[in-house]
Amino acid sequence: MKLYNSLTHTVEEFVPNEPGKVSMYTCGPTVYHFAHIGNLRSYIMEDVLEKYMRYVGYDVKRVMNITDVGHLTSDGDTGDDKMLKGAKREKKTVMEIAQFYTDAFFADCAKLNIKTPDVVQPATGCIDDFIKVITSLIEKGYAYEAGGNIYFDTSKLSQYYVFGDFREEDLAVGVREGVEADSNKKNKADFVLWFTKSKFDDQELKWDSPWGVGYPGWHIECSCISMKNLGEYLDIHCGGIDNQFPHHTNEIAQSEAYIGHKWCNYWFHVHHLNTTGGKMSKSKGEFLTVSLLESKGYDPLVYRFFCLQSHYRKSLVFSYENLDNAKVAYDKLVARCAQLVSANDTAGVNADDFAKLKALFTNAMDDDVNTSNGITAVYDVLKADTNPATKLALLEDFDKVLSIGIVEKAKKLASEDNQSDVPADILELAQKRAEARKAKNFALADELREQISQMGYAIEETRQGTKITKKV
Ligand code: AMP
Ligand code: ZN
Repeated sequence: MKLYNSLTHTVEEFVPNEPGKVSMYTCGPTVYHFAHIGNLRSYIMEDVLEKYMRYVGYDVKRVMNITDVGHLTSDGDTGDDKMLKGAKREKKTVMEIAQFYTDAFFADCAKLNIKTPDVVQPATGCIDDFIKVITSLIEKGYAYEAGGNIYFDTSKLSQYYVFGDFREEDLAVGVREGVEADSNKKNKADFVLWFTKSKFDDQELKWDSPWGVGYPGWHIECSCISMKNLGEYLDIHCGGIDNQFPHHTNEIAQSEAYIGHKWCNYWFHVHHLNTTGGKMSKSKGEFLTVSLLESKGYDPLVYRFFCLQSHYRKSLVFSYENLDNAKVAYDKLVARCAQLVSANDTAGVNADDFAKLKALFTNAMDDDVNTSNGITAVYDVLKADTNPATKLALLEDFDKVLSIGIVEKAKKLASEDNQSDVPADILELAQKRAEARKAKNFALADELREQISQMGYAIEETRQGTKITKKV
């Protein structure tokens, strides 16, 4: 399979360090607030990458950190402490905030059919590992103490800006954000590994260290958690595009200084979800969460489908209009699948057709995880000249990766044996009604029942599922 590698700026053939095995690291959420649907776009696309690697036969081990300490509101060393900010906002302790929003994150992931990584590691559980690596970096001359903090010395590297997109002037973070620049730093690009002189008097979480009581910087956690669980040779590192600099640049700097050789071969960056007004933010405008979408009557899987319609390396604009278009297409897909289910085809799967149509999907996904062409393959299957059993088997197969749940929904929709004659447009309305009921939008559900009735069908919910009958 081919993957775009941010490190080389090219699409490359993916070759793992160990044949048949893939080690994959993902920057996890900072658990000071709910994830917004932009954050979740990144996790959806990374989930597809992981699932596709498994689908083609790799033995994948995926690790994710949970940032519950050290992340400041700027991704450099300036601004407020995000966790402290969350704790103050909600008058809770930092650990209470961390637990609450970690649970909320995984609840959102479950709704979006995002698989939980094999290892999920909160940063606060690995303080000894951070201290070990920082100690070694000091011994090797890559880190220094100044004003009570430990800094990584970027001038010791032959190349710091490994992704090649950033210049020195981009680093004027302090100036740009109106925050005091840190005069302890020997070089502008240096970054904190360990804080002992906390800028925050009320810092709740502090640990003993050889340099005094303090807490780790943000970047060190990902290097350490990755190396602890996946070793010194990492195949793929994922994150949103904003993580590329300074976070991933710093991760590479400290990891490679520590191990003394190249660390990670492929860097997978998901571009941003923006609103029509620009950058998505947790503080301005409507805070777009999965729960908000649900409260407006959207199935979270419609949002997943919306994300998959675009390539991960293009920024994507969110609007309700765009989501509505995705919803219409999604409901149609479920309705068409329901017809396939209702056909009760006993002829079995045609192996030749299966292989031919599956190749359309794998060709798309092998091409740098082109999910939008992967979705086109779903339509190609529906249109194909083959029997319903083969089509259903293919759609179920693709859904191991896409996880949009259309066959599962279709099976529910077609659970009554008398629905084989129900036309697709009625099934589509029935699907919309099911979603409205799920979102407790009963006014809309009643309206849809009325519409179905006017088209000559009666719909009712039974213990076995939805029952649709032609009115006589
Ligand atoms: P955070 O919780 O801020 O640490 O971010 C979690 C993940 O979401 C990181 O991989 C970010 O790069 C990613 N991310 C942040 N904003 C967006 C966005 N608007 N669209 C896509 N991914 C994002
Ligand atoms: Zn990270």
